Amino acid sequence: MTSQSLAAPASVQLQDFFKRQINYLRISVTDRCDFRCIYCMSEETRFLRRAQILSLEEIAWIAQAFVELGVKKIRITGGEPLMRNNILSLFEQLGRWSDLQELALTTNGSQLTRFAPALYAAGVQRLNISLDTLNAERFQSITRVGKLSKVLEGIAAAQQAGFSKIKLNAVILKQRNHDEVVDLLRFAIQEGLDISFIEEMPLGATDAHNRAQAYYPSEAILRDLQQHFSLSPSTENSGGPARYYRLPAHPNTRVGFISPHSHNFCDTCNRVRLTAEGRLLLCLGQEHSVDLRQLVRTYPGDKVRLQQAIIASMRLKPKGHEFDVRRPAVILRQMNMTGG
Ligand code: SAM
Ligand code: SF4
Repeated sequence: MTSQSLAAPASVQLQDFFKRQINYLRISVTDRCDFRCIYCMSEETRFLRRAQILSLEEIAWIAQAFVELGVKKIRITGGEPLMRNNILSLFEQLGRWSDLQELALTTNGSQLTRFAPALYAAGVQRLNISLDTLNAERFQSITRVGKLSKVLEGIAAAQQAGFSKIKLNAVILKQRNHDEVVDLLRFAIQEGLDISFIEEMPLGATDAHNRAQAYYPSEAILRDLQQHFSLSPSTENSGGPARYYRLPAHPNTRVGFISPHSHNFCDTCNRVRLTAEGRLLLCLGQEHSVDLRQLVRTYPGDKVRLQQAIIASMRLKPKGHEFDVRRPAVILRQMNMTGG
């Protein structure tokens, strides 16, 4: 793989109104998915038409504009990114940019047996793989259609391909999988993986469960884990929302907690998101956004205008989200639109 510098001036940095440095871009490359996870989308979700979503060329163009403005990390997400036609070409292109320090992917793992070696070769460094349960029946009921065995095979394929930075993401819901947190951590330890436990966020309406009743706080998960493991809080900070713990007896596994309700993480937010439709979303839990699709389609090739719009958008980044599981979802956009 030959690397290519985008020659970003060292002085350029994106900073928002609250003086937070923005150096991380998450890109949702599709809203489509082969699963229908109950916390993410409704069973009858209608997907965007092809013309509504950014082409891979438009995505790369916008990503390049961000990297030249000092973005150092890009995570590709979705929907299920590996469902998008020709997605490898995007990874290959981004993987060549030497100014990009980290290229990461969030996936449900269902396609990894097919894609893992090529993703690794393209320069993807980090994989987040969603895994909420180790029970095949539960897995099917949470994802509505998914097969656990495919995901476990996908995790093995990623390890075999050479990925050393793999993190499992587990959304924990009371009465659905809260009794599995110890088993999930055991699995992570056995495989030498990190794991993050995530509180459900109220994005989009859900028809499968009551979010307030399904709320299982990170503190409860921590307490459950402490019955079986010794965990020590870690000061490490990935610049993201997770609080980390170390397991002195198992140095290869870190445990993270993403707790939008019980531990607001907005003060140190360093990221923005590009939705599949090309909306630059300044906060996961608010609707402040800028339509970059319209801009790149009206002014194709005009990078100066694009970068000016990106710089100006930073003033729109709100102080924080206002998630509240006790109220009906205020944000109607589902997680698959936004990219988790
Ligand atoms: N399809 C891929 C996957 O599942 O990993 C990538 C996209 S998915 C939207 C990204 C992450 O968001 C997953 O780890 C998923 O569990 C999480 N997620 C989806 N809906 C959520 C919600 N309402 N609250 C918290 N996390 C959610
Ligand atoms: Fe698909 Fe990921 Fe949403 Fe599940 S969480 S429905 S795998 S996009």
